[in-house]
Amino acid sequence: MRVNEIFYSLQGEGFLAGVPSVFIRLAGCSLRCRWCDTKYALDQEAGFHYSTDKIVQAVQQQARSKFVVITGGEPMINPDLPELVQKLKASEKHITIETAGIAFIPDLACDLMSISPKLSNSTPAAPQLAAVHEDSRLDIAVLSELIDNYKYQLKFVVDSQADLPEIQQTVEKIGNVDSDKVMLMPQAKTREELLAKSPMVACLCKQTGFAFGQRLHLLLRNNQTRSI
Ligand code: SF4
Repeated sequence: MRVNEIFYSLQGEGFLAGVPSVFIRLAGCSLRCRWCDTKYALDQEAGFHYSTDKIVQAVQQQARSKFVVITGGEPMINPDLPELVQKLKASEKHITIETAGIAFIPDLACDLMSISPKLSNSTPAAPQLAAVHEDSRLDIAVLSELIDNYKYQLKFVVDSQADLPEIQQTVEKIGNVDSDKVMLMPQAKTREELLAKSPMVACLCKQTGFAFGQRLHLLLRNNQTRSI
């Protein structure tokens, strides 16, 4: 598999925010979100080649946590993901897969599918990138399949309060969504941006009943280093 990085840190987002976890960042993503904070992992060839056994071995060296987060890039487009998940599960790990919800794989032994559907606020400005991104950023059928087949959380990135109708329409279109599993997160690349947008997102959460999504990695280390 093409692995961009493996590191130990705190989960920054979602209902497991704050839980010490080992992160496996796989390389490759077909989307080009304008605010993506892992652009270094988008190229399918980014990083280094590891066998699934070697990845599991690297994870086991971080014995302080049984929580593993497979992230990217977009893990769900990686053909070797089922084999990796199976081997991690055999070593009794709690597995979260972080995905934009653009591809479905059945029967993964994952404990939490952390889905972040991409809204129109993610579309890049460059016209040649925007057209491809717009065509592929949202697949309602795939999102429905994911939430019907896995334990999940749905995380929406909010850039402004104008995003709310699109979020509500998306949740409605997916159907069968448990609103207790929906969270709104401020769009931010720095701690300052996060703090500036948090009150607006908090108001939307109170208005809708959706949870406020932490972005602890920004608060703790301003996205600069993984040392915390
Ligand atoms: S889906 Fe995730 S990894 Fe891919 S471009 Fe968007 S934010 Fe970056």
